[in-house]
Amino acid sequence: MSDSTQLLQVLGDLIGINSVNPFYPGGRPEQTIQAYVERFFRSHSIEVVRQELEPGRSNVIGILPGKIPGLRLLFEAHCDTVGVERMVAPFEPRREGNRVYGRGACDDKGGLAAMMCALASLRQRGITPSAEIWVVSAVDEEYAFRGVARLLEGLRADAAIVAEPTELRMVIASKGCLRWRIAVEGRAVHSSKPHLGVSAINGMARLLVALQEDSRELENHAHALVGSPTLTVGRIDGGTQVNIVPDHCIIEIDRRLIPGEAPDAVFSYYCALVERLMEREPQLKARIEPPFVVDYPLETETDAAIVATVASVLHDFGLNGEPAGAVFGSDASKLSAGGFPSVILGPGSIDNAHTVDEFVEVDQLERCFEIYRRLMERFA
Ligand SMILES: [Zn+2]
Repeated sequence: MSDSTQLLQVLGDLIGINSVNPFYPGGRPEQTIQAYVERFFRSHSIEVVRQELEPGRSNVIGILPGKIPGLRLLFEAHCDTVGVERMVAPFEPRREGNRVYGRGACDDKGGLAAMMCALASLRQRGITPSAEIWVVSAVDEEYAFRGVARLLEGLRADAAIVAEPTELRMVIASKGCLRWRIAVEGRAVHSSKPHLGVSAINGMARLLVALQEDSRELENHAHALVGSPTLTVGRIDGGTQVNIVPDHCIIEIDRRLIPGEAPDAVFSYYCALVERLMEREPQLKARIEPPFVVDYPLETETDAAIVATVASVLHDFGLNGEPAGAVFGSDASKLSAGGFPSVILGPGSIDNAHTVDEFVEVDQLERCFEIYRRLMERFA
């Protein structure tokens, strides 16, 4: 079987297995797809390690030994997908011209297939790379990133390549995210005598204005690859009925972090802002809840060895090797926060991920397979 035939076969097989994250409707633990990945590695005489997260949910790692003791390069892709509402035949891979359609085609089964086949190709040719190569098929990326958290336990590696659809650009920076709630409490009274009560909605209005004014400043802090931090108040809920002065109001805030911003420091900043506002307005009683989402930004140093290696391989293929930024989150930021220089590189476009007609371009997929294989050989 040619490399290309095998690659398309593996991608088709992966799409054919429902691996919707169990958090989403119609989802299930990833054991069926992971059994496939494990069988694939074993059929190519590649050593396999499983890391159990919980029953039915394990990361699967294919390992090819390297020449240099202690040197290890990680390739990581996630095997779960988002849901398939309104999709027609999401698990029936369909080839049309230069495209393969199906749930996960670009996010993230194209990248996963390319990594698996690149490892198998080295094995088949009897090539021993300098670094030990791990190809990790991780669970639970599309919901809580618990697969990569499990991978990080006791991990040792020199660098990581994470598959996400970047159209074969090397992404070294992405935004992080912090989400939390602020509640304002008031005193409920009959709305015919509002002066006897304290309106939580009016209090929240002043807080919202303060947040909005403060957010103008964010535009002055642009990162070269990912742009400015942003703050969005995405939800608000308050009051009980129209003739009662409201005694509660709550908002949910989404604050996107740029590289260099530490989630703790950003959260403390907003706590202090609310404290100052309460000092100025003694009637205002606001309570900040701890964040319910904390996702680190990704920033890999441009002088990291992996950046130079990826750039040189992309140049070999006549592609743009300049580092790029991305706005989406991925496992890469967790690996990077764990101390492992990480870049994101994969076939397909993020614009097609999570859509009802998700697809990956076949020429990009094939090119990516060759890029991964050369990276496996060259990293030293
Ligand atoms: Zn993804």
